[in-house]
Amino acid sequence: MASLVDSFGRVIKDLRISITPRCNFKCTYCDPMGMGHKEPLGTVTVTQVAHVVEAAAGLGMESVRFTGGEPLLRKDLTDMIYHAKKIVGISDVAVTTNASLLKRRLPELLEAGLDRVNISLDAINADVFKMATAGGNIKQVWEGIEAVMEAGMHPVKLNAVVMRGVNDGELIPLAELTKDKPIHMRYIEYMHLNNAEASDYQSQFMPGKEIKAKLEEAFGTLEPVETDPSAPARLFRVPGWQGAIGFINPVSEPFCGACSRMRLTSDGRLRPCLMTDREIDIREALNHESPVEAITEMFLVAAHRKVKSGIVTPVDRPRTMVAIGG
Ligand code: SAM
Ligand code: SF4
Repeated sequence: MASLVDSFGRVIKDLRISITPRCNFKCTYCDPMGMGHKEPLGTVTVTQVAHVVEAAAGLGMESVRFTGGEPLLRKDLTDMIYHAKKIVGISDVAVTTNASLLKRRLPELLEAGLDRVNISLDAINADVFKMATAGGNIKQVWEGIEAVMEAGMHPVKLNAVVMRGVNDGELIPLAELTKDKPIHMRYIEYMHLNNAEASDYQSQFMPGKEIKAKLEEAFGTLEPVETDPSAPARLFRVPGWQGAIGFINPVSEPFCGACSRMRLTSDGRLRPCLMTDREIDIREALNHESPVEAITEMFLVAAHRKVKSGIVTPVDRPRTMVAIGG
C-alpha cells in the first residue's frame, strides 16, 4: 500500500477539505470582521472533491474531514460525503460544523455515510455564546448536538476556543457536559491567524495549562484517558464521569512532530501546514483530463513542502481561519 511521507518522515493520513469560505457566524477568534458573510459559496465542485479524495486514498490517506467556513451551507456536501465514502481506503468521513443547520441536515448526511461530527461550542450561556459567535443562536446548536447524540454518533466531540475575557467563565459549565453524556469537550488554545491586533491577542490568549488548572480546582485531579498519539487532543476525565475533557494546545505545546494532515482550500489550493502560508495552486490539476494522476503529483509536491513546525505567533497572514478551513 502506498503512503504519503513528508521530508521529515511524517505519514500524511488525514485530509481536511474546506468546501466554502462562507459562514453564517462571525466568531471572535476566527472571523471578527465577518468576511465569511460576504464570501462566495466555494468553487471546488463535487467531482473535483471526489477526484482529490481518490488521489488521497491512492496515496494511503484514510480520513477526510469537510470543513469551512460553515460546510453545511453547501447543499452538495451530502454528495461529497457520498462519493468520499465510496472510495476504497477511506475509512472515516467527518464534518466540522457550527451545528446551526445540523438538525435539519443530519438525516441526509447520515444517509450519505457520514461517520463523525465535530461541533464548535464556545459557551453554555446563551448571551456569552451570542457574543463569542457575534449573533449565533445557541438553541439551534443544542438541537444539532441532541440530534447527533440521538443518532448514536458517540463520542460527540465539542470544541471551544478559549479567550480570556470572552468565554473563560464558561470552562466549568462546558466541562460539566461530560458528567452524564458520552461527550468529549475539547478546549482549543486561541491561535493567531490575522484575527486580532497582536496586543489584544496576547491578552486574550489562555494557555491550556491554565485551563486545566482551573478545571482541576473545580473538579479535582483529572485522570488521563488513553489517546491516539497522532491526535491533537490530550484527553482526561473527571473520575467517574462518562465523557472526556480534551486539551488542544497548538500554541503552548505544538504537535507538529506528529502532524498527519494536509489541507485543501475551497478555492483549489493545497495547504501543507495550517500555520504556514505556503499554498500550492492545484486548479490546473483539478481540471486536467487525467485529474486523479495530476492531483496525485500535486500531493507529492505538497508533502515535500510541509515544514517541520509552523509558527503560531502574531504575524500578518493573508487568510483568516474561516478562509483556510480549520
Ligand atoms: N464552521 C465550522 C466550525 O465552526 O466548527 C468549521 C470551520 S472552523 C474554522 C473549524 C475550527 O477552527 C473550529 O473548531 C474553530 O473553533 C477553530 N478555530 C477557528 N479560529 C480559530 C483560532 N483563531 N484559534 C483556534 N481555533 C480556531
Ligand atoms: Fe464560522 Fe466556524 Fe469560523 Fe465560527 S469558527 S466564524 S462558525 S468558520
